[in-house]
Amino acid sequence: MSLISADTADNTIKITFNDLGLSEPLLKAVRDQGYDTPSPIQAQAIPAVISGRDVMAAAQTGTGKTAGFTLPLLEKLSKGGREQSRVQSNNVRALVLTPTRELAAQVSDSIATYGKYLQLHSTVVFGGVKINPQMMRLRQGVDVLVATPGRLMDLYNQNAVKFSQLEVLILDEADRMLDMGFIRDIKKIISLLPKQRQNLLFSATFSPDIRALAKGLVNKPLEVSVNPENSTAEKVTQWLTGVDKKRKPAVLTHLIKENNWQQVLVFTKTKHGANKLTRYLEEEGLTAAAIHGNKSQGARTKALASFKDGRVQILVATDIAARGIDIDLLPQVVNFELPNVPEDYVHRIGRTARAGNTGQAVSLVCNDELKLLWDIEHVIQQHIERKTLEKFIPVNELGESREIRPLKAKKPKKFKQPKKAKVEHKDGQHLNKGHKSQSTGNKANNKSTDSKNKVNRNRRSKPAPTK
Ligand code: AMP
Repeated sequence: MSLISADTADNTIKITFNDLGLSEPLLKAVRDQGYDTPSPIQAQAIPAVISGRDVMAAAQTGTGKTAGFTLPLLEKLSKGGREQSRVQSNNVRALVLTPTRELAAQVSDSIATYGKYLQLHSTVVFGGVKINPQMMRLRQGVDVLVATPGRLMDLYNQNAVKFSQLEVLILDEADRMLDMGFIRDIKKIISLLPKQRQNLLFSATFSPDIRALAKGLVNKPLEVSVNPENSTAEKVTQWLTGVDKKRKPAVLTHLIKENNWQQVLVFTKTKHGANKLTRYLEEEGLTAAAIHGNKSQGARTKALASFKDGRVQILVATDIAARGIDIDLLPQVVNFELPNVPEDYVHRIGRTARAGNTGQAVSLVCNDELKLLWDIEHVIQQHIERKTLEKFIPVNELGESREIRPLKAKKPKKFKQPKKAKVEHKDGQHLNKGHKSQSTGNKANNKSTDSKNKVNRNRRSKPAPTK
């Protein structure tokens, strides 16, 4: 992921992290991570955020967007000087809203990682865990609060969080938040914030819905869109094979064994399906673990850790559980079943080929799923390559793909302003342990792994282009 800014006669000049206006504690943390070149989104967003501008960035997961807003945010907050703008009890200086608790935990981890040489204080809050420890952590005030919208509203309604000192608002994966039906909470939260503030909006795409949201949010923003040639999906090799539904477990086992795939993230539609497939794979002598909303946080954290360090070869996940999973060099994603919502396909394959690496996404498609395949191919604006597995030729042959028609521009929906804040639990229900607050000087030990959000699957935003 290199960014070339200018050609000279004898060489090319590369933008480095030193050119972006970051101070030494942050540069040191970046070096510790082993990053040598800023990704395109980082090269554009970091100086703009430091300068105080509002930023609207279209960036898919895997482009380095988290560091793209975390690094300049920490830079600004550290320069603002904790002494001068001492954060008062229950107040927050920067608020990062994310759609899921996994993403919240991941962003919180990034803040801890990049801020380890700074004296800033951050914490993360989300639903599905006890609220009291979160209230306690907020009592002292925090520089950065990472939150999911539902739990943040709960905390606000209980006077546990105040926004009078808020300087920066960040919406991460805003498109996903709209998909999940968080618009009312988001609008309500925005209405509670001081008018004078910096706003950063990150979204996979600038769909009409996102533009409608941005209208009342950002002020003369710098619009950043990473060059599609650098986009994650570009580096993902996608192919599918037509199979009979009943033979899918056998096909998956065959592919894993035949190709000696060492680390495979497999997507199923349902939690029950994830459990069943995991049992099947184990019976076949493979190591597998399931990760979904019915698993306790402990079980999910354990499964993810085992998968990351290679003790478990196959992680079987549902869509929401997998959102936010960030594993460097994840080479292989399998769609055991196609998602009902075509945009989820884009998110799923975005789990691989992260940060400039290459990856492969394979879909096992039975004829019942033909309509879903058509929708996906329409959304990604390309036909997925088909391969035949000689041993598994389906009896019920997979139908033909359709001609690709251009995507139509969609009118944004009108959203009503909420009358009063509601106490809702939109985040998961099965966790039993909360995230701890952290000084950015300490690496967070706070991986969580699932969400049980009530997903509003009826609303579809325009997906990320994959070409
Ligand atoms: P994100 O798009 O924020 O989810 O980041 C995806 C991955 O890229 C994470 O694993 C980061 O650690 C990694 N990453 C972020 N910035 C860079 C960089 N400049 N060079 C290499 N890897 C990076």
